[in-house]
Amino acid sequence: MTADLHTHTTASDGTLTPTELVTAAHALGISLLAITDHDTTAGVAEAHAVATQLQMSFLPGVELSAEGAPGKCHLLGLGINPRHVRLNETLSQLSEHRRERNEKMILRLNALGVAITMDDVLAVAPDGANLGRPHFAAALVASGTVTDTREAFTRFLGDDSAAYITKETLSPADAIALVHDAGGLCFLAHPGLLRLAAHETYETRIRALQALGLDGIEAYYSSYSPADEARFLRLAEKLRLLVTGGSDFHGANKLQVPLGIVRDGQPLSRNLLPARLLARAAV
Ligand code: AMP
Ligand code: ZN
Ligand code: FE
Ligand code: FE
Repeated sequence: MTADLHTHTTASDGTLTPTELVTAAHALGISLLAITDHDTTAGVAEAHAVATQLQMSFLPGVELSAEGAPGKCHLLGLGINPRHVRLNETLSQLSEHRRERNEKMILRLNALGVAITMDDVLAVAPDGANLGRPHFAAALVASGTVTDTREAFTRFLGDDSAAYITKETLSPADAIALVHDAGGLCFLAHPGLLRLAAHETYETRIRALQALGLDGIEAYYSSYSPADEARFLRLAEKLRLLVTGGSDFHGANKLQVPLGIVRDGQPLSRNLLPARLLARAAV
């Protein structure tokens, strides 16, 4: 009885369709799955239908990028209603911002001497994908500009690299409130990947998010060491926060992360997840 509550499909920057992802999860013996595409729920209905057919427990999810006080982070909404009107209106606006940002990234890359067009990016992206930097990376690899994704991010697309354009996002406060409005629980995604300022600790940052309504943190995560996991479990216990866990599977866009592998190379047992979260999963 294993779970993976952080996965990406072709609706954002994964490479498996919702149907392929749920089918693969079932084949691996995963019995509780969430899909958490970046800033979109477009893959949820299809995934949910397949999960129901396969008698898997399923949580509709979304991963929201947030910027503003108390700092840049990713937030997971789990157990949301994917048809919630304000959620969908907000996600549409975010997609529009993404489109504008993508145009700017093309111009910036061109200014850096890289001949790339939006058609080149669309050519490597699945139909309907919420386009982001991983698709740009794939296009740069396809054109031979770089040899792999890592080089694409180091030279051009990474947060500190030349073609990085910030994207308009929700603030953490707004993202947490939106997830709650849509009926979900809100978790800080991969706290171990936070960039803390000099005056901050994980605890101060997480407490600040808790003051905004955060329900829990992703204490189990594919790239954590056992020491990282222990630290975040202790912190969750101390602050009385819920915990969640997931791989952050992206298919071929993140080959080092296999589906369902959450804890230092091992799957995550469902019974490590809190009852309040499990209760939201449809059969
Ligand atoms: P975006 O939402 O368009 O800003 O793209 C964010 C996605 O880019 C994340 O989900 C990661 O999968 C990917 N990403 C960000 N930084 C890196 C990096 N340094 N190397 C590889 N992938 C990255
Ligand atoms: Zn991603
Ligand atoms: Fe993330
Ligand atoms: Fe993710």
